[in-house]
Formats: sequence, C-alpha cells, structure tokens
Amino acid sequence: MTPQPSSGGGSRRLLRQLRDLMQSGGQRQDRLDALVRLIADAMVAEVCSLYVMRAGEVLELFATRGLRREAVHRTRLRLGEGIVGEVASSGRPLALQDAQQHPNFAYRPETGEEVYHSMLGVPLLRDRQVIGVIAVQNKTRRAYDEEEVEALETVAMVLAEMIGGAGLIGEEEGRHTESLATLPARLSAITLNEGIGMGVAVPHERGIVIKQIVAENIEAEILRLDAALAEMQGALADMIERHDLDDEGEHVEVLETYRMFAEDRGWIERLREAIRGGLTAEAAVQRVQTDMRQRMNKVRDPYIRERYADLEDLGNRLLQHLSGGDMASAEALPQDAVLVARTLGPAELLDYDPQRLRAVALEEGSPTSHVAIIARALGIPMIGRCSELLSRVRPGDYMIVDGDAGQAMLRPRQSVRQSFLHTMEQRANRLAAQAAVRSLPSETRDGERITLLANAGLLADLEQLDDCGAEGIGLYRTEVPFMVRDSFPDIRTQSAIYSRILDMAGDRPVTFRTLDIGGDKALPYWSGGKDENPALGWRAIRIGLDRPAILRQQLRALVAAAGERHLRVKFPMVSEVSEFTQARDLLHMELERHLKGGGTAPSRLEIGVMLEVPALLWQLPALFPLVDFVSIGSNDLFQFLFAIDRGNPRLARRYDVLSPSLLSLLRSLAEQAGEHRVPLSLCGEMAGHPLEALALLGCGIKILSMPPGNLGGIRLMVRSLELAPLREYITYLSRLPNRSVRGHLRAYAGDHGIAI
Ligand code: PEP
Ligand code: MG
Repeated sequence: MTPQPSSGGGSRRLLRQLRDLMQSGGQRQDRLDALVRLIADAMVAEVCSLYVMRAGEVLELFATRGLRREAVHRTRLRLGEGIVGEVASSGRPLALQDAQQHPNFAYRPETGEEVYHSMLGVPLLRDRQVIGVIAVQNKTRRAYDEEEVEALETVAMVLAEMIGGAGLIGEEEGRHTESLATLPARLSAITLNEGIGMGVAVPHERGIVIKQIVAENIEAEILRLDAALAEMQGALADMIERHDLDDEGEHVEVLETYRMFAEDRGWIERLREAIRGGLTAEAAVQRVQTDMRQRMNKVRDPYIRERYADLEDLGNRLLQHLSGGDMASAEALPQDAVLVARTLGPAELLDYDPQRLRAVALEEGSPTSHVAIIARALGIPMIGRCSELLSRVRPGDYMIVDGDAGQAMLRPRQSVRQSFLHTMEQRANRLAAQAAVRSLPSETRDGERITLLANAGLLADLEQLDDCGAEGIGLYRTEVPFMVRDSFPDIRTQSAIYSRILDMAGDRPVTFRTLDIGGDKALPYWSGGKDENPALGWRAIRIGLDRPAILRQQLRALVAAAGERHLRVKFPMVSEVSEFTQARDLLHMELERHLKGGGTAPSRLEIGVMLEVPALLWQLPALFPLVDFVSIGSNDLFQFLFAIDRGNPRLARRYDVLSPSLLSLLRSLAEQAGEHRVPLSLCGEMAGHPLEALALLGCGIKILSMPPGNLGGIRLMVRSLELAPLREYITYLSRLPNRSVRGHLRAYAGDHGIAI
C-alpha cells in the first residue's frame, strides 16, 4: 500500500492533475469533489476530506471522498476540536494509527467515520495562516510513514495556493483571524537592543506571490535554481562588503557564518529534491521552508533555532532572486520605518536602509540571535519574543518599539506618543549630559573617588570603552565568545580573543572571569547532562574543577594572551574557600608551565573570587587573606539569598534588591573587606542602575562594574552626591523592617539633588 505521491513520478503526476483540475471550468463543488477523489486515489486512502477555515475559527467539511455526502458543509469543528481541529490549531501534521484512541478525537455521527481507524491530517497554510486541513483516512490501523506525510504536505501546499487563487472557496473563508483590531494595544516583549524607536509598521515578509507551483520542465527548474543560487551568493558577498560596519566584532563572524550557509550542500540538495518531486524552483524553496519551520517548532535549543532562522532568511532571499526582483525590503521604505517580522536573519536586516529604520520588532528572536548582534552594531532599537505581533500589526500602523522596557505600543493614542517623545527627548538630554561629564572624574561632591568599570562579553562592548569612559573591564564574561561559536574554541583561538581584548583595553585593567557555563548559559555543542535545577547544578567553577582540562586550557590561554601585561582572573560561583584555592593552584601551575616553556611573566597577576554563593559569606576571614580582590555577583547572590530563580518573570517583582537584608549584608561585607584591605567590587545588574548604585555606594562599595551603556548615568549620579551623609542614611535604612527601601531612597535622592 505505498501511496504514489512518495515517488517522484507519482508526485509529479498528481500535482499536474491537480493543476489541470483547478484550471478546468465547472461548478466549484464538482471541482472540489474531484480534487479529494484524486488525492484519495493517489494516497491509496479510503477517505480524503477537505476542511476549510470559516469565520469564527470553525473548520467546515467542504468536500470528501469516503465520508457521507450529507456531512459536507454540515460537519464543523472548532479550532482545536477533534483531530482536524488539532492539526489546524498546531499548524502541524498529525499521523495516527488509531485516531479514535486519541484524546482529542471528536465523533461526528453524520460522517460515518467510525469504521476508519488510521488518519493523517495536514494543515493548509497560506501566508503563514492555517486556511484549512486536508485529511486522509484508512480502515486498517496503519502507520503513515514520513514520506507519506511529506507527500501530503506537498499536496497541501499546492492546494492552499490553488484553492485560494482559483476562487474555490469564498473570499471570507480560509481565514481564521478575525479582522484586525484598530484599537491601541500594548504588547510585551524582551529587549534585544536598547533604545526607543517609533514610526510606521513595515512587515518584513512581503509574501512573494508564487505564480507557478507545478514544474513544466524539471531540468529547466533545476537550472533556474542553480542560477539564482549563484546570483544570491555573489550578491551576499557584495552586500556584506558594502555595508558600513566596523570590520571588528562578532557581527563579522556572524555574517561569514551566514555566507557559508548560502553554500550549504544539504540545503541545496533538499531544494533540488523538491524540484525533482514536481515543483517549480520557487515552490521548492517554499516547500523546504515550511518543512524547516515545522522542524524548528520542535527544536528547543535556542542556538539551533537561530541557525534555522538564518536558513529561512536565505530562503526568502533566494525567492527574491528567482522572481528576478530587487530585494523587496529595499523598495520605498518610509522615512520612519519600524520593521515587523516573525524572525529576521542578519543579512535581511542589512537589506534595509538604517537611516530610515527606527526600530525592529520580532515575534521570535533572542538576545544572542545573530540579528540582535547586527542590530547592536547598527544601533537600532530591537525587541523580540513579542507574541501575536504579526496578527495584531497591520502594515502602515503607527507603532512604538520600546527597547528599554521590552514592549511595543500599537496604534498609540496621541498622548502616549507624546509621552514617548518626551521620554526620547529626556533620553537624548540625559545622553548629552552624560557625554558632557564623560571625561570628568567619577568623584562625589565630598571628594570620594569611585571606580567605574564596564562589563563585557562581546568585542562590541569593548568598542564602547572609550565612549563610556570606563577605567577598565570589571567583568569580562569569557563564556560569551564560547556561546556564539559552533564548537569549543581551542587554546590558540581563546588566546587570540583574550589578547585582542587586552589590546583594545590598552592600559586599562581587564578582569577575566573564567568560564561560567551551565545554569542559564548553555553551550550548544557541549552538554553537561540535564540538571533538575540548573542554577543550583553543575556549573561554573564546579565544571572547571571536575573537568580541569577545560579550565586549564582557558588559564593557559589567558597566561599566553597576557604576555608581559597585567593579568586579572576571577573564578565564578565559588562556594568554599577550597574551591578557590584549587582553581588558583591550577592558574599557578599553568603560569609555571608557561614560564618553563620560555614564556614571559605578567607584569602583575591578581587572582580574585566572585562572591555569589551565600555560604562563602561565612568564610570571609579565611578567604580574604588568600585573594587579591573580591567581586560581588549580585545577580546570583540575590537569587540564592532570596531563593528566587533570576529568570522567572513571576518572581521578578516579588522581592527587591533594595531590601534591608541585602543592604545589611553588603554593608557588613564592605566593612570586613575594608578591615582586610581587600578591594571589593560589585558587577551584577544593580551596579548599572542609578538608584541601586546609590545604595551600593552608601553600603561602602566603591568599585562598580556595569554594562558600558549605563556608565554615563552612574557617573552623573556619583558627581551629584555627598557620600558621608548617604552612608549614615543607608545604615538607618538597612535596619528598617520594610520589604523595600526604594521609596525612601528615591525621596532622599530627590531631597538632596542627586541625579538618578
Ligand atoms: C552575577 O551573578 O551577578 C554576575 C555578574 O554573573 P552573571 O550575571 O554572569 O551570572
Ligand atoms: Mg553570576
């Protein structure tokens, strides 16, 4: 019982027959009936039914071969109801050996389907929307194999285009989204790049209309594909070269990787295979893209998902070349454009004129996605994971992308626009004020010097070092370059990265933190096994000590990169003094080895520890004499202190870092570090927020490390402040029974003219 469409010839024949049927005249219902008959025969199925989405999200049986005729236009299923409803709501195929055993099975007596056991349903997708479902059924409990599923998917794709285009269903049918709202709306999202941008929504996918789906001449289509591929590869190389981007930084690597994808053999072969199955080159690209999208839905690994996003970008680009048009995005972009897309590839973003692009909003995307790296390099505000974005935004809608707060405002009222304009103006003023004091010392009004450092992970962060006026890098997260690569960088690659960082920092000190992987920081190519509780699991120094080869390689690379320069290294997630001493001994071993091999010693070596695990707080007298410095990782320390997952949005507002308990702890820590003359810094998020940083200074912490973009605001705050009275006030606040002292502190800042 092998269905014919799985063979190339059978598939081609069926596609041609379907096309001929569509082009023939005659009654609409007759043609639909003939269509399901053709498919049933080709799939060797006893039943083939076509359901079409009608207004109100109801799937109506439009034609059937095998079920009772009286059920046509009578049987209706809501979205999510029954197997057909499930296929439509998930947008994915479903193959069942015994459909009646499925929890979602919905029996419709009028259809007479009780005698059929196996079922395969596939969604009809048009413009990314489910417009219906095609289902085949068999009496026997048979398993549909992957080839059969793919065959029906190809048929579904052709049907979706043909049915819509040939007027086989009415205008109002085949849509499951109601007419789009015109009311203002706020959509929540996450920040991919900071900043606010507003303008007119421009959907990225202009939906190239594929005029011909079934190939007349397979060989000719393959030649067309090859020509378009060659053209695309050439154009990509030109575009990457043409763009006014710095030639340093991760974006260079991202674009190179992307260019390699364009030459990916597997992808090109899949395209050719689809053409051999009877599709035109354009339809083949679309077919492979649909297939990839479905696979992507099953993938949870963010890294792999990003790679799929890159391939999708390439698919769209290839379609453009096949259709012989210019890049759609380049044409007539409004002056103030806000680009809206489900995902966007790095090169797709480069297609748009950055001068006209105010912001980008994506339905997917993550801060480490390639397109986000490019957006940062171009300075374009960007938000991601904005669900329902595409179904709520219409082309031409006015919208605001708030990359600072991670939200989008759709069709905002005039008052909302005004208030965002005001915020943007304030932001611009603030930036100007910050720029004005950039080269002035970060010194309080009563003459206390405060050291402001930058956190970094990408080379792009280092590029901001001059602009932000940081005195050095307080936290270089070495895992970041590991995270954006395809495989573990070897010692030489690591050493080259660290050396580059030191070069860029010049005579400003850089504190390298050894690999902090595990927890929320996964390396795509290395699995440490599944932890029930990743934040409390096998991560950071625990991995480093259990797999010393990894840590030693990194330390070797650091020593080699430093050469004669100043080297500062700190270890993350240390819970016991002995973990620190073991790690430190490994560093000394590597240094000795380096010297024995004829290497030079660093001019100065400082070894410190991250204070992130509360247990270490009770070992301070033993720890201080052994370390050159201590860095508080307040993100983790706060998470462990309050037993809250730092990534859980439901807990995000429950506790406040400006709590008397954390302030008491930090005060005591600063006091003890002072007694031992050990420099104490803080490099968690709170150091970069003026009000929080104010509290830290009041606790006695005078070295703060933060994202480079936050430094200007903190410098302004420092220069507007008198430290002595603040310290007294913080002592008072740390003894209050309140859950948060945020309000008190804000009032204090207001009363004392402190810029927060
Ligand atoms: C911290 O925990 O505060 C910290 C700086 O480390 P990370 O955020 O990289 O875990
Ligand atoms: Mg941490």
